Amino acid sequence: MSHIMNTYARLPVAFSHGEGSWLFDETGKRYLDALSGIAVSTLGHNHPRLVRAIAQQAACVLHTSNLYRIPLQEELSDRLAGLSGMDEVFFCNSGCEANEAAIKLARMFGHRKGVEVPTVIVMENAFHGRTMATLSATGNRKAQAGFEPLVAGFVRVPYKDIEAIRRIGEHNGSVVAVMLEMVQGEGGINIADETFQRELRAVCDEREWLMICDEVQCGIGRTGHWFGFQRAGVKPDVMTLAKGLGSGVPIGACLTSGRAAGLFGPGNHGSTFGGNPLACAAALETLATIEDDGLMVNAEKIGESIKTGLREALAGCVGVVDIRGRGLMIGIELDRPCGVLVGQALETGLLINVTAERVVRLLPPLTFSEQDAQKLVALLAPLIRKLLDQ
Ligand SMILES: *Cc1c(COP(=O)(O)O)cnc(C)c1O
Repeated sequence: MSHIMNTYARLPVAFSHGEGSWLFDETGKRYLDALSGIAVSTLGHNHPRLVRAIAQQAACVLHTSNLYRIPLQEELSDRLAGLSGMDEVFFCNSGCEANEAAIKLARMFGHRKGVEVPTVIVMENAFHGRTMATLSATGNRKAQAGFEPLVAGFVRVPYKDIEAIRRIGEHNGSVVAVMLEMVQGEGGINIADETFQRELRAVCDEREWLMICDEVQCGIGRTGHWFGFQRAGVKPDVMTLAKGLGSGVPIGACLTSGRAAGLFGPGNHGSTFGGNPLACAAALETLATIEDDGLMVNAEKIGESIKTGLREALAGCVGVVDIRGRGLMIGIELDRPCGVLVGQALETGLLINVTAERVVRLLPPLTFSEQDAQKLVALLAPLIRKLLDQ
């Protein structure tokens, strides 16, 4: 018995080291990592460039606090602004913190406009985190149960329902922002098509609302673009990042542009650890490696290869509802709960996840190779066929 608080139903395995797309347990058994620690290990495991960058930074300085200038943070903010077209960056340590900052910004924005009770439109099946405000924004009653009273100031619409959003705009003058994921991760790999993204941008412009994109899971090259919103050529007013940004070193970011920029001043928000030199060094090296090694093109290519391979291997399988995704963010929706697949995959040496009860979720490192993709299909397809008894 350990003293770990019981917040996770953990699988009975512990990994001692990793190499590229593979993790090794304490007995030496190897596992193909098609999950990346939930979209975190962008560069896979033991990537030489990342290891070197972290070691070099650790030998210089780990942490100084935001009471002083941090040149690496300035460099990273320039880099992220350049990649996204956003203007300002606030650094924190996780996705929920990045989203907390976004929600606080939306409220500040509303109050500046004279809106007394600012309201944010959020989506069904959304996931934004576990802090009180982000839990309240999350569209999952199970995650919220037991933690009432929730934070007020959110109204919910079905994902991608532009008409519902327009209707709220007509009746509710307190709305200040719309917050959403371009590809819902925890919600089951649900994709906001480009038409919806452009329509949403237009409604936000017309109503002077902030468009807040939670790119915590779908950002940092995973969908084949740096950010999920770039596929439609729209730009949000606020964007949040975390998970894949530091490739395993915790770092989060909340970016603003246009009417969302310049809202916070000293004293409005902060983070002790946020954007410390170690985390920024890891993020800078992650971004540089994605660029130098063409990992976004790889994500697109390998993602297609995995989907094609699965479609072929599962052809004629009646219980397969859909195989979908963008880049290396892939969901296989089945017609029944399939949580048991996670343990079965582990047995065969494959790391996957099941979300929204019926969706097998794949989030491999962006360094995944064609060979890894074929191995993944070869390991996974028979398990799905067996579950569906076909
Ligand atoms: C994981 C996730 C979060 C929460 O991130 P944490 O780092 O766990 O706080 C928020 N939004 C999305 C879309 C996520 O996938």
